[in-house]
Amino acid sequence: MTTPECFGCGDSIPGGLEILGQYLCPNCEAELIRTKVGKLDYQNWIDHWKRFWEQTGIDLKDLNDQA
Ligand SMILES: [Zn+2]
Repeated sequence: MTTPECFGCGDSIPGGLEILGQYLCPNCEAELIRTKVGKLDYQNWIDHWKRFWEQTGIDLKDLNDQA
């Protein structure tokens, strides 16, 4: 089994988690949790999440409509 490419950093590090078909490595998972507290790399993460949503192909407007 190959580890998918992390949408956060682009590395293939095993042990992460998959969200809506996109892979997040353990390093970025830890960083994401830390960022929620510190917000130091907040802008950086906004860019990552934009890419994440683009890759899932899910339209955020559709999600809002369904909710
Ligand atoms: Zn990563």
